[in-house]
Amino acid sequence: MTVVAMGMPAIRAGQPSVDGRPDTPYLVDRFGRTARDLRVSITEKCSLRCTYCMPEEGLPAIPADELLSTAELVRLVVLAVRELGVHEVRFTGGEPLMRRDLEQIIAGCRAELPDTPLSMTSNGVGLEHRARKLVAAGLDRINISLDTVDREGFARLTRRDRLDSVLAGIRAARAAGLSPVKVNAVLMRQTLSGAADLLAWCIAEGAELRFIEEMPLDADHEWARANMITAAELLEVLGERFTLTPVGRDDPSAPAEQWRVDSGPATVGIIASVTRSFCGDCDRTRLTADGRLRSCLFSDQEYDVRAALRAHAGDAEIAELWRGAMWNKSAGHGIDAAGFVPPERTMGAIGG
Ligand code: SAM
Ligand code: SF4
Repeated sequence: MTVVAMGMPAIRAGQPSVDGRPDTPYLVDRFGRTARDLRVSITEKCSLRCTYCMPEEGLPAIPADELLSTAELVRLVVLAVRELGVHEVRFTGGEPLMRRDLEQIIAGCRAELPDTPLSMTSNGVGLEHRARKLVAAGLDRINISLDTVDREGFARLTRRDRLDSVLAGIRAARAAGLSPVKVNAVLMRQTLSGAADLLAWCIAEGAELRFIEEMPLDADHEWARANMITAAELLEVLGERFTLTPVGRDDPSAPAEQWRVDSGPATVGIIASVTRSFCGDCDRTRLTADGRLRSCLFSDQEYDVRAALRAHAGDAEIAELWRGAMWNKSAGHGIDAAGFVPPERTMGAIGG
């Protein structure tokens, strides 16, 4: 085991043990799951400072030479699809729009992977000016984070007065042909009273809203189980304005449970990551902006694929490292259990 210093909290890195791993090319783990969904964080930088995610001053900058380059990102994404059975790829961060080469990264992946769904999670700031270019590069879908349509509430939560830019970004995403456009809202006490307004806005704009229970991944370490808003509490609040009918999940590994709003067709999703964990069906594998493989948001075990790339490892060697990393995935995050310890890296440094 080595300790890696990278302008981020210290993380354990090492060589994965592959004891007992079956001979399969896919990203299987000891608990019978297979990872098919790749989340790629491409930067730690962000245009907002959401209190449930980033510290006020932002995350420590990753030195330019420690960030994966455009070509390195494309190589790893293509390898994950071709060699490891990944079915879909989502770019995240930090804020992916902070990378000027985002369109090149997407176009590079699209050129090699014509049929793989490519999506991104974004805060939408500045998206208005890039949505068409992203679609031209090959982006299929987008999730945009928006917690409230109240300007002051937005500025307090994100520590930036950028609501107008986000709303324009959501409209531009739809106009550019991204479909579906999903909106993610983290459940926070300070925005709960605006939840119904947010839902009404999303329905009017044709965006699919999903609320997410806050997870203990905030840089300020203020999350407390006793204070968090649960899915049940949200349902009560929305129920005062809308009639909600449960319609289940789109598929078992989809984290959002869906409710029909009034007589439909609009729905609202709730991702109860804490109170109704879906770890047993998790199909995710993660790559950080500084080139570490992670099997879970909540694991401190990382594997240094950047070092392998830069030591001129072949695809077969990198694929083996990735398989080993996933074989060692934990059964679950244990947030709701006594003695839970949050991971060293926070959400902005892993990529949600
Ligand atoms: N900057 C982009 C954005 O905000 O969409 C992408 C990165 S952000 C880390 C990805 C997702 O994680 C966002 O939907 C955000 O709301 C969510 N997120 C951040 N911190 C969270 C937390 N503590 N608990 C639950 N979700 C969180
Ligand atoms: Fe930035 Fe996204 Fe984190 Fe908000 S949630 S601070 S927009 S990375």
